[in-house]
Amino acid sequence: MVTTLRTQGSARPAETFDTLNPATSEVIESFPVFGEDDVAETVEAARQAAAWWAGLPWKERRTRLLAWKSHVTRYLGRLAELVHNETGKPLADAQLEILLAIVHIDWAARNAHKVLRPRRVRSGLVALNQAATLEYQPLGVIGVIGPWNYPVFTPMGSIAYALAAGNAVVFKPSELTPAVGAWLVNSFAEVVPEQPVLQLITGAGPTGEHLARSGVSKIAFTGSAATAKKVMAACAENLTPMVAECGGKDAFLVADDADLDAAADAAAWGALSNGGQTCVGIERVYVVEGVYHSFLEKLTDKMAEVRPGEDREADYGPMTLPGQVDVIERHIADALARGGRPIIGGLASIRKPFVGPVILTDVPEESRAVTEETFGPTVTVASVANLDEGVRLANASRYGLGASVFARNKKDAMAAARKLRSGMTAVNSVIAFASVPSLPFGGSGDSGFGRIHGADGLREFSRPKSITRQRMKPPVNLTSFSRTDKDMRKILTVATILHGRRYK
Ligand code: NAD
Repeated sequence: MVTTLRTQGSARPAETFDTLNPATSEVIESFPVFGEDDVAETVEAARQAAAWWAGLPWKERRTRLLAWKSHVTRYLGRLAELVHNETGKPLADAQLEILLAIVHIDWAARNAHKVLRPRRVRSGLVALNQAATLEYQPLGVIGVIGPWNYPVFTPMGSIAYALAAGNAVVFKPSELTPAVGAWLVNSFAEVVPEQPVLQLITGAGPTGEHLARSGVSKIAFTGSAATAKKVMAACAENLTPMVAECGGKDAFLVADDADLDAAADAAAWGALSNGGQTCVGIERVYVVEGVYHSFLEKLTDKMAEVRPGEDREADYGPMTLPGQVDVIERHIADALARGGRPIIGGLASIRKPFVGPVILTDVPEESRAVTEETFGPTVTVASVANLDEGVRLANASRYGLGASVFARNKKDAMAAARKLRSGMTAVNSVIAFASVPSLPFGGSGDSGFGRIHGADGLREFSRPKSITRQRMKPPVNLTSFSRTDKDMRKILTVATILHGRRYK
């Protein structure tokens, strides 16, 4: 079946591709491949819709976004089934992902006005006669390019915030999860039928590249660092700015005073949930040497109980992207060849499309399993002298997305959290930052740049606009050819009094 795309707009590509259930390889649905002209037509329709959407009062946009949130919540069951079928993840994980997305739509809708509305700012002594106003205006059309691992939560971090800031959105979901993307777009059209404010384009890399070249106001990309570089090159042609939410190699630090049961439970979930196909999944664990063996024993017990499968009781599903299994295999093989020791699993854990849990120890820090994103249910565990050494090794990565620290001493935990070169750190839990909508989310280095979520996420999709309004004539007018040498002397005297004082 070829899905009915975009109830609004007119682009109708002829070529199609199939989306498959990764556990059974059954075809779920067929979708059109959007070519350059189709993308251009969609972006043009979005420009018109953007003007209408931006022209609505804040309250109207907020009401519509909250209505969408309510719609998604009421039909959560149907959407979760679709996510389960397209990604293979357990139904409960799909439900959790949607719940988190709902929290973000709610926050973005309720806070957009407060964060972005016009406000008076101080004009300072030199410009006392000016009233200064700052406001954040919509950019226009945002192109959102999404991944497949969290096909609702991840793109929603851009879509909800871009819409709440007053922009229209053209969304290209991953070619692995177009049905979930179509569901989101169609559900928005149910509550906002007037204009195509959120539209879908489907296809693989080339469709995304057309979007990056289409002259949209900004691209919000989520995916791998390698693809981000290609998207950035395409964006460069029109100086289109972008947000890049890329991969990670998140570290998990365990101090000698940590609650080891809680730490092992959290590390197992952080490493294995969604089959490790999580940008902020735990891939490296550094444990202070005094508790290394006890922690490893507890982690081993926890991870040994976890099972992949396609049945309803399975803890996680198949590898959604078939090619990822080869990456996981290469990382395990490289670690073993360099002297790494498997504590649970190993190469035999790979039973396509499933991969069982793997714990590796004694893995040299320069191995691929430590330096590159594995994106599978594997974790390396190493002993360190103290938290500082853990921080140093964690920071040696090219990536800098999320991290976790387990320690009972609050001061030590917070100090380590601050020193970690990650965009987000969870203390005594994993991934908690993703569920706090007021906290910005994003990375540095190969993990990308820019922020989604929170006030920074709203501003990411806005243009700061500064306005000065002269309230009264200045005592001396310096921006006029009528200014005199005396005027300049006066102002230099004032400047010297204000700013010329020596600081010790
Ligand atoms: P990917 O880079 O293969 O693809 C991401 C998207 O880019 C897809 O929609 C794809 O079709 C599109 N694309 C591919 N080539 C393109 C091109 N040349 N121009 C424009 N678009 C192009 O990533 P993936 O396999 O879908 O997702 C997994 C990656 O995403 C992992 O690295 C993961 O860590 C990362 N991720 C990051 C976050 C985050 O918030 N930082 C969240 C989820 C996933």
